[in-house]
Amino acid sequence: MNKMTVRDVKDWKGKRALVRCDFNVPMKDGVITDENRIMGALPTIKYLMEQGAKVILCSHMGKPHSIFSDEVKLNKKDKAKVEKGETTAEAIIEKAKKDDLKKLTLAPVAKRLNELLGGKVTFATDVVGPDAQAKVAACKEGECVLLENLRFHWEEEKRDLEFCKKLAAFCDIYVNDAFGTAHRSHASTAAIVEYGLVRTAVCGFLIEKELTVMADSLEHPVRPFVAILGGAKVADKLNVISNLLEKCDTLIIGGGMAYTFLKAKGGSVGTSLVDDEKIDYCLDMIKKAKDMGKELLLPVDTVIAKAFPDPIDAPIETSVVPSMQIPADMMGLDIGPETRKLYADKIKGAKTVIWNGPMGVFENPTLAAGTIAVAQALADAKGATTIVGGGDSAAACTQLGFADKITHISTGGGASLELFEGKTLPGIACLNDKK
Ligand code: AMP
Repeated sequence: MNKMTVRDVKDWKGKRALVRCDFNVPMKDGVITDENRIMGALPTIKYLMEQGAKVILCSHMGKPHSIFSDEVKLNKKDKAKVEKGETTAEAIIEKAKKDDLKKLTLAPVAKRLNELLGGKVTFATDVVGPDAQAKVAACKEGECVLLENLRFHWEEEKRDLEFCKKLAAFCDIYVNDAFGTAHRSHASTAAIVEYGLVRTAVCGFLIEKELTVMADSLEHPVRPFVAILGGAKVADKLNVISNLLEKCDTLIIGGGMAYTFLKAKGGSVGTSLVDDEKIDYCLDMIKKAKDMGKELLLPVDTVIAKAFPDPIDAPIETSVVPSMQIPADMMGLDIGPETRKLYADKIKGAKTVIWNGPMGVFENPTLAAGTIAVAQALADAKGATTIVGGGDSAAACTQLGFADKITHISTGGGASLELFEGKTLPGIACLNDKK
């Protein structure tokens, strides 16, 4: 890791640290349902408080686009109401805006942080407005202010210069610890530094840890190195497949994306999810693996059903067939028992494992066995560095109670996928290099 971290700044006392965090936590009815991202941010915040900095925290929460866009899509029910004259499109849009403001406020995060940090956190009800200015001015050494949701301003995602200047006015030193948004080039994640508005820009402990574990494992893996990719579509992970194939010894494919590979190999895949435009790409990858002497594993058996479950967790009748022989009217929705064993054995024999994407429609209990088997194999891979790249697979490991048996569960699904692609993340590239 060649970027400066909070540890490389010698004197924090009395300095205002603007810390970009990722507090985009799942919430239901104003209650935080998963605190992982808050917990992940604590080491940096505590360190800065102990060093006597004035800590100004900022984050986004969700996508409150309705607030500054009138392009709110009316659903069927709304349209019917408008047609009947019961309401107007304008009234529905106004309500959507109010709901977003209420639903996507960071106030519950501020409350939780205040509990975790001994009552030292205040909440600004705006981002760069009068309340934020007053609270930042009143912030004492060793205290924190959390600003309201950055994305309540369209300027955040559009990298607006004036908005960046207002944020920069709150800070002497900029700290990025939001790994989950490090692949985004927004005002608070990169532009504020790229415009030259802050002189010192460093990363926090969370980004340091994510980079050290993931980038090091990709660049200098202890072998055998097994990479597992799942999820819906091949198209979403083209560069990831290609880059991982170069780095790993065995690439395991599962989930919806497996059926495009199986069809490319001449298999009958019935009504399974297939990306016909990517058949040639899959053939290229199969050839690339062969040419490079890499192992590319595809499911040997598949759990099938008549149709995709609707709703997604509805009871479903399934059977198992060889994965290249799916009947014309059936759909593959999870890896079968033989594949689970094959994949688990490979994982258990590895010294480095990285995983992104579920093996099947894991949201349905009947179709979750493949994803559970892979999570279990990672947990059982003794002496191996095991890395789960955020998103659904991270949630699966946490829910199954395997989190403490896995070396690293990333807090950023999109960001870790871009690392797996070999890309440089803008939120990290802009930070000061170590001297
Ligand atoms: P991704 O966002 O690309 O990681 O994909 C995750 C989604 O892929 C989950 O919602 C799964 O339900 C879905 N998925 C996994 N396996 C299949 C499959 N065989 N057919 C359709 N969708 C799948």
